[in-house]
Amino acid sequence: MCGIVAVSGNSEAAQLCFLGLYSLQHRGQEAAGIASFDRATGQSHRVRKPGLVSDAIQAKDIAELPGDVAVAHIRYSTAGGAGLKNAQPIRESYRGGPIALVHNGNLTNANLLRDQLFNQGALFQSTIDSEAIVHLIARSRGATPDEQITEALSQLEGAYCVLITVGDTLYAARDPYGYRPLVIGALPGGGLMLASETCALDIAGARYVRDVEPGEFIRIRGGEIETVSRLPQMVAESQPCIFELVYFARPDTQLWGYTVDRARRAFGRRLAQEQGAPGDIVISVPDSANSAAVGYSEQSGIPFELGLIRNHYVGRTFITPTQAGRDFKVRMKFSPVREVLSGKRVVVVDDSLVRGTTSRALVNMLREAGATQVHLRLASPPVRWPCFYGIDMPTREELIASDKTVEEIRAFLGVDSLGYLSPDGMLECVADEGETYCTACFTGDYRAPLVDAQQGFAMSSHC
Ligand code: AMP
Repeated sequence: MCGIVAVSGNSEAAQLCFLGLYSLQHRGQEAAGIASFDRATGQSHRVRKPGLVSDAIQAKDIAELPGDVAVAHIRYSTAGGAGLKNAQPIRESYRGGPIALVHNGNLTNANLLRDQLFNQGALFQSTIDSEAIVHLIARSRGATPDEQITEALSQLEGAYCVLITVGDTLYAARDPYGYRPLVIGALPGGGLMLASETCALDIAGARYVRDVEPGEFIRIRGGEIETVSRLPQMVAESQPCIFELVYFARPDTQLWGYTVDRARRAFGRRLAQEQGAPGDIVISVPDSANSAAVGYSEQSGIPFELGLIRNHYVGRTFITPTQAGRDFKVRMKFSPVREVLSGKRVVVVDDSLVRGTTSRALVNMLREAGATQVHLRLASPPVRWPCFYGIDMPTREELIASDKTVEEIRAFLGVDSLGYLSPDGMLECVADEGETYCTACFTGDYRAPLVDAQQGFAMSSHC
């Protein structure tokens, strides 16, 4: 998961990156970091700390990040990958000058590359995929940073959006499949901003210019964008991740040609056509399913109500009583509105079902609050396969739909009925732009080769 931002050609580069990270907070809550380059002194500076952006980066930190070019990262916690040593930006010095790099996505040959680099004597400071990219750049025989970075990128497989500064030059690249988003905006005070989502441009008042295209490697200096190269592993069809539309991106973001809210509403409307339910009210599992639930309500005519309230102030690490029980985390996060639910047949719309643990606990909560029936509707198909391209998804064994039928899942969750959006229905909702999407988590159709698995290495789960 994770989010990335960069600014070039603006004296408030670090401050603007901070704003961008702020609006990408949903993409990661574990750590935040910014690295800047100051042309006046030829020095690079970096701050990276654990926690939410507002806790991790203070005004005094921004003051220590001078320069008109900066890159920034927000990290999502993944199993086994926690700790500040894995926070980004990565910052090193090599023969091209100070280099800083941020990365969103998962490389599918990260462990093979790491193994090869180890055998050549490389020393690693972290366990993240992204560090291998910096080593590949530093070890390249290319004469210029353009050539060195091109050579490094041509060795990567899988999903990546990277933002790299070498001195005061900013580089950006997106993998040939285009799994993860990366957009370019023009800042009102001059200079350019790049970010994972358009919501980061909006907060800085930047005007959307264009996407970094799949397989494109660009250089930005003095406000000018130049395409350095097209990556050699170009594929016939890009494969943007449909799960960004389903769950991950923010509803106000423009993604793959759609406003995320509109795409989710379309999923919800289609779900209502495919999977009607005998309900008195429609509620969402806030916040990620709000748009889909509104769509379901619009299509079905069943009124939308706020039956669950989400507590936005629950940190990722709170102290859990020892006898907390399975439902405790869900009770910390969601509260039922009894007057809305009592005596009602409730259609609950969620965006996706992953392990099923959240829904199971929510169903108990809704029944305790007086719901007479609970009909669960999912605005995406069954998630059956793990993601190796940058969405944090558990192993196959942990995915409830990997080996259970819809009826078995219904019984496990204890709902009166259960219905999923069909794969074709989902794709038809977002087919206007003629885009093909990565649907591997629903279908197991992994297009970018899973090199590590083929070579007998573990698959990486870092972003
Ligand atoms: P569960 O089925 O209990 O694992 O949780 C499903 C809920 O988690 C849904 O409400 C989704 O909004 C949310 N969700 C979906 N994918 C992810 C993910 N990769 N990481 C965290 N939460 C997710």
